[in-house]
Amino acid sequence: MLRLDLPIVSLEQTPTEAFKTLRRTGRSAVLAGSAGDFRVIRADDLFRAIHQGRRRISELPYHPVTHAETEAGQDFYFMLHEISASVAHVTSRSERLGGPLLAGPADCYCVQYAHPAPGAKDDDKCRICGSKIVCLRF
Ligand SMILES: [Zn+2]
Repeated sequence: MLRLDLPIVSLEQTPTEAFKTLRRTGRSAVLAGSAGDFRVIRADDLFRAIHQGRRRISELPYHPVTHAETEAGQDFYFMLHEISASVAHVTSRSERLGGPLLAGPADCYCVQYAHPAPGAKDDDKCRICGSKIVCLRF
């Protein structure tokens, strides 16, 4: 398990707005939603949504968030401990799941699987799957 502090955004935000929040806060996932429906949305899914022209992060894939006070002892991906206006304190089930979220997002990803490609340029090939790399332009 790993403790994380993730920025909070509204489900009404655009993927681009949420991605800018990741850059500003140096994290690779946001917490969105409200009590009973908290979600962790990762940078690679935001990239995919931006690339596909999606408008709202409420449409995106996510990891559900279990609440520590009411659902302790349950199996979970992310468990929410404390929430303020801008920061959520959560635990990830494993370091493998949470560790990569403690750094800022990459600017470039492959179009096939949204593998992050730090340091790559547009039209490079993904080192993992060989598909084309696209870099965000904002
Ligand atoms: Zn790839």
